[in-house]
Order: sequence, then C-alpha cells, then structure tokens
Amino acid sequence: MNKFIFVSGGVCSSLGKGVAASSLGALLEGRGLNVRMVKCDPYINVDAGTMSPYQHGEVYVTDDGAETDLDLGNYARFTSGPLSMANSITTGQVYRSVIQKEREGRYLGRCVQVIPHITDEIKSRIKAVAREDGDTDVVIVEIGGTVGDIESIPFLETARQMIREEGRLNAISVHLTLIPEVAGGELKTKPTQHSVKAMQEQGIQPDILICRAPVMLDEATCRKIALFTNMENDSVFTSYDINTTIYEVPLIFFEQKLDQIVLKKLGVESRHANLKPWYTMMDKFAARRGRVRIGIVGKYMDLHDSYKSVYEALFHAGLETGVEVELVKIDSARVEEADDAAGVLGPQGEGVDGVLVPGGFGERGINGMVRAAAWARENGIPYFGICLGMQIMVIEWGRSVLGWEDANSTEFKQDTKHPVISLLEEQVDVKNYGGTMRLGKSETVAEPGSRIMAAYGEKNIFERHRHRYEFSNNYRKEMTDSGLSLTAFTADRSLVECVEWPGHPWGLGVQFHPEFKSKPTAASPLFRDFIAAVRDRRA
Ligand code: GLN
Repeated sequence: MNKFIFVSGGVCSSLGKGVAASSLGALLEGRGLNVRMVKCDPYINVDAGTMSPYQHGEVYVTDDGAETDLDLGNYARFTSGPLSMANSITTGQVYRSVIQKEREGRYLGRCVQVIPHITDEIKSRIKAVAREDGDTDVVIVEIGGTVGDIESIPFLETARQMIREEGRLNAISVHLTLIPEVAGGELKTKPTQHSVKAMQEQGIQPDILICRAPVMLDEATCRKIALFTNMENDSVFTSYDINTTIYEVPLIFFEQKLDQIVLKKLGVESRHANLKPWYTMMDKFAARRGRVRIGIVGKYMDLHDSYKSVYEALFHAGLETGVEVELVKIDSARVEEADDAAGVLGPQGEGVDGVLVPGGFGERGINGMVRAAAWARENGIPYFGICLGMQIMVIEWGRSVLGWEDANSTEFKQDTKHPVISLLEEQVDVKNYGGTMRLGKSETVAEPGSRIMAAYGEKNIFERHRHRYEFSNNYRKEMTDSGLSLTAFTADRSLVECVEWPGHPWGLGVQFHPEFKSKPTAASPLFRDFIAAVRDRRA
C-alpha cells in the first residue's frame, strides 16, 4: 500500500502545520499503519545547516547526519518511522540536482522547465521515501509556507499532479487554516473560504480541512465552512487552542474521528486504534507534582525554536519524573557581565534548581557559560552540558581546578597555551568548514559504574553528533589525575564522549545531542536523570 497525504497551510504561518501533520501521523501509526513523514521546504538553501539559529531555529540532525529543518524534530517526537536526508526536500536541493542533470546533458537538448522537470524531481523524491522500504503504507508530505506564496507553487503543483495520477483513493489533500475571532468573540470563516479558494486555483480541492480556532467549532459553523469550500460535512475538523501540551493534539483529533475519515478517504478499511502510549503520557502530564526551575544558559535565547529539541526533551523528562519543568532562559552574556554568577543564577537572582548549557558555536557568551558551570559545580547544583556544554565543563575544570587561567577551546582562542578543546590534528588544515563536522549517529561506549551508563542501562549508546571540536587527548592525563571523570568514549576509545564531576549530585556533559531522540512517550535517559537529580535535591 502506498498512499500519499499532502498537508498544506493557508491564511498565515505558525498555525501548527507541523504538529497537525505529525499528529495525523501518530494517529495512523496508532491504527497500525507504517507512516513516513516528508517536509518540503520552499527555501533555496540546500539544507538548514547554514541557517542562523537566531532566524530559523534549531538545526535538526538525523541519524545519517543530515542537517534538516526543525519540523523533522516534530515528526521524530510524534511518529516512529526513520528520518534521514531523504525526508527533507528543499527547493535548493531540487534545483541543484535538476541543474546538475542539465549540465550532464541528461535532458537530451530539451528546454528544462519548472513543469515538468522541477515537479518531476520533487515527485521522484517523494516517491523514493515511499519506496525506501517495502512496507510503507502512507507518506505524509508537509508543504512548507502558505498557499499563495510564490515559492511553494512548484510543491503544490506536484501535489496536484500526484493526486491526479495516483487516484483519489491514493492521494489526498489536508489543508490547515485559521478561524480568527474578532471583537465581540465572533468567529470568522471568511479567511478559510479564501484559503480554500487559493487551493482550488492551484487545482487542488482539499479533502480534509483542519481549522485552527480558539474553541471547538460547532456543527453549524463546520457545515457552513463545508458548504462554502466544497467539502463534505464530515471533513471539517477543529484544532482548538489548548493549555495543556501540543502532545494532546493527536487525542483531540482522535476524538473528532479525523483518522477514521482519512482512512475512509484513502480506502483503507478501519482497524483497531491503539493510542495507549498517548493516553498514558497525558496521565503522566496530569500527575505531575511540584516544579523545578531549569536555567538554560546559552546564546540564542530570544527565539524559542533555537533550542526546540532541548526544551521539548526537558518537558519529556518532567513527564517521566513527575515534575513540571520551568524553563528559565538566561542569555549567557548576562552571567558574563554580572558581578558574580550567583547574583544571576542563585536565590537572589533567578533561583534556578539546575543548569543546562546547550550546544552552540562561536565565542560570544562563552565566559558566562564557564561561570555558570563553576557556580553549579561549587554549589552542588545539578548541571547538564550538551556538546558545547560539555566543552565548557572541561574549560571550567582547566581554569578552576588546574589553575590554567587561559584554558580554552581553539574555537575561541587559537593561540591559548592550554587548548583543552581543539580540532583533531588532522583537521587543523581543513579550511573549508562545510562538511568537516562530525555529524549524525555514532556509537559511544560507557564505562561501568558511571552515571551515563546508569542512565542508559547499557554500555553501548547510539546518539547523534554535530560538532567540530573535541576534548583534547593531550590533556586526558592531567584532567583525570586532577579528578575529572571521563566516562564514555567512541568505540575505538580515540575520542572522549562524556565527562562527569566526581562527588557532585549530578554534573555531566556529553559531546553528542541526546535531545534529538527524546520523545513525550519515551524521554531521553540523560534528561530524565538530570531532572530526577534536580527534583531529589530540592525534596
Ligand atoms: N562549537 C562546538 C564545536 O564545534 C560545539 C558544537 C555544538 O555544541 N553543537 O565543537
């Protein structure tokens, strides 16, 4: 079975198209179908790797090392199908390969055009995901942007062609719109009518409409929308505002029977729905008692999306450990400029119960992170370092414990006398940064008796990397002799993957990014243990 669902959006952006697409994926998985998710991004960047986290949010890394759009993170948290480079299609990739083929003369002298050459390329990429393994049932294709944007036209045109070519029972359109509320509390359907009209102008009649609204739409409103948009009465759904968690959205759709209607439209016979993991997750949500304040000390603090997976993983860990996790976002420059770190982080300041230093690039704010780490270490406050956050632990140890004031990473100070974090020797001459990073899944082996081993419950760990600099092997001896624990390595033991503070309630840093694999229904073990340590210390 190979079915396609195209999810598009109208009226405006940020309506939660990614969450809607992912939630539909979760529901279909609950019905026992094998689902694959694809994101089509209209931007011309080849991938998200070169985009600023300030502007575009986090770069989501897949097992195969693709640097993709953060929407893939949503897919990973809601659904369980594999995600790789193939699941993220950008205009840049599509044009690059079409132009490459043109240069190789593979179009045999024909004039190369948006239709059919660009749309064929998009089509073949979508179908490649469907074919990846033999048992894919449904591919959900989320089309970035808003209908009416110049940039998304080729993707919508591809959807139109595929709906026609595959046949009505094999490909459908799900369209997400907004029902705004105007003064006086009246709900307005006109923008939705216009949005569907814009879809029809692209040659697509949506099969399912999901309306983002402040409240559940009543039947009369749904019927009115259906009438004006040429939809069936049972095909208009509401994604109403909730004050619980986005992870309740699959259940909200389930209660409206969205999955049943989708299956009907795809000609798939209805089967038993198992949504137990989602209901259990919501029970855990309701059962949380108490609250912990986690100070995230980083440099991209203004845009929530910049550390999206980290924030989500903290939330998952709270579900697992029974506490509400409050995110206290602290620009590391603030810690750097303050008289002392305690004034910002301690009881007189933000009063955080735990410190997390996430990944990052570039020099700005580094000293603030080092001071935050020192404060956590000296005061027995749980600390979790991710990638850059682990490197910060090593720098801090060099400066405070070994007394090397200039201890640093060569990323921030090339000629420091104590480069405790540096490029691997063979990498020093690499000038072209693109492609020189350690990216994607690799194996880490934990030492028996370590906290990291206790967290995972086994010594072989598979997590994803995205970094260029490493713990310098020249300092292994001095670091361990002075008491820093090196507790996990690459399988060949050539690189340090985890450091821990001895005699501390919980101080641990990893060179990889565990946040990418955390799910609401299965929290990342390290996030879970970090939050558990914070909770226990407060109790
Ligand atoms: N900037 C550091 C490096 O390249 C850390 C990267 C990260 O935190 N993702 O090694």
